[in-house]
Amino acid sequence: FDMFFLAFVERLFRPTFKKDDFVLGKKLGEGAFGVVYRASLTKKPSSKVPYQKEGDLVLKKATEYGAVEIWMNERVRRACANSCADFVHGFLENSSKKGAEYWLIWRYEGEATLYDLMQSKEFPYNVETMIVKEVQDLPRGLERENRIIQTIMRQLLFALDGLHSTGIVHRDIKPQNIIFSEGSRTFKIIDLGAAADLRVGINYIPKEFLLDPRYAAPEQYIMSTQTPSAPSAPVATALSPVLWQMNLPDRFDIYSTGLIFLQMAFSGLRSDSALIQFNRQLKRCDYDLNAWRKSVEPRASSDLRKGFELLDLDGGIGWELLTSMVRYKAGQRISAKGALANPYFDREGLLVLSLMQ
Ligand code: ADP
Ligand code: MG
Repeated sequence: FDMFFLAFVERLFRPTFKKDDFVLGKKLGEGAFGVVYRASLTKKPSSKVPYQKEGDLVLKKATEYGAVEIWMNERVRRACANSCADFVHGFLENSSKKGAEYWLIWRYEGEATLYDLMQSKEFPYNVETMIVKEVQDLPRGLERENRIIQTIMRQLLFALDGLHSTGIVHRDIKPQNIIFSEGSRTFKIIDLGAAADLRVGINYIPKEFLLDPRYAAPEQYIMSTQTPSAPSAPVATALSPVLWQMNLPDRFDIYSTGLIFLQMAFSGLRSDSALIQFNRQLKRCDYDLNAWRKSVEPRASSDLRKGFELLDLDGGIGWELLTSMVRYKAGQRISAKGALANPYFDREGLLVLSLMQ
């Protein structure tokens, strides 16, 4: 009851918007379930309303799945606002010729996703200049790259821990769905279109077609098939903490995050084709990263060797963390909170880096 009451009060005091309040700008993305545009407010609805500069907003016109995405974004804003892009408003827009559409509005966080940044030859140095005010005095090399990757991983796991502690599993964690917020100089998660809220049982669409096979954990479904797909709220609220313990559905996101860590460490695995090939190799090794390493290391390219070297720094704590995230059995994977407590994030250098932010 409290949750719904608070949600109601919160909505009363927040500005709401309608279709005519927005002018569309450049198209930012188009998927099977919606189109995303940069957008601006047409006129000042009130002097208290923020986001009045041109291009301050992002607008997604979504299909029927937009209803779930609005729910997830509302919940995130109340429970773990810093984990995801700032959500402004969501509503059902009926006047379109195409029939009902859901419109979702966020603050425009910045122009680059982690995917865009990872495509650059400069990665991870191009990120360093964005997350810290002054570049480190370390010479360019593995140590410095490792520190930047640590910072990105820490921000990512922090955001993910926020979602998971709220009871939300994202299910589509990938570099394309991680935006760099220029305002807070941190990475935030976007695209809750495939997310599941386990505390309240909003979980309609665990269809495999929604999952990106490049980043999906081998279990594919986050809950056992015995789980009702859209249980009514009171039943689900009573059941879900138990289900959470039994199935550890959050570990689905951890696997995907592990693959992102891998791609950051190994420049040769950043392309789609290389990732797909890696996935095939890992499957042949029964999802055992150590076995994969044994099979590729003897004839490794310099790219691969460099990745192993980076993860082997400081007694191999990076490799240890990676292997605790990318495991076949969900129950054997570390949690986001557990990963943040990993010695990989304990280092003095990291503290310096975060103080500089
Ligand atoms: P899709 O369902 O098309 O994947 P996303 O929510 O992932 O929709 O958004 C598509 C793209 O739009 C993202 O990859 C990103 O480039 C951009 N984008 C989405 N939200 C924001 C935001 N809040 N700020 C800046 N860019 C965004
Ligand atoms: Mg997306």
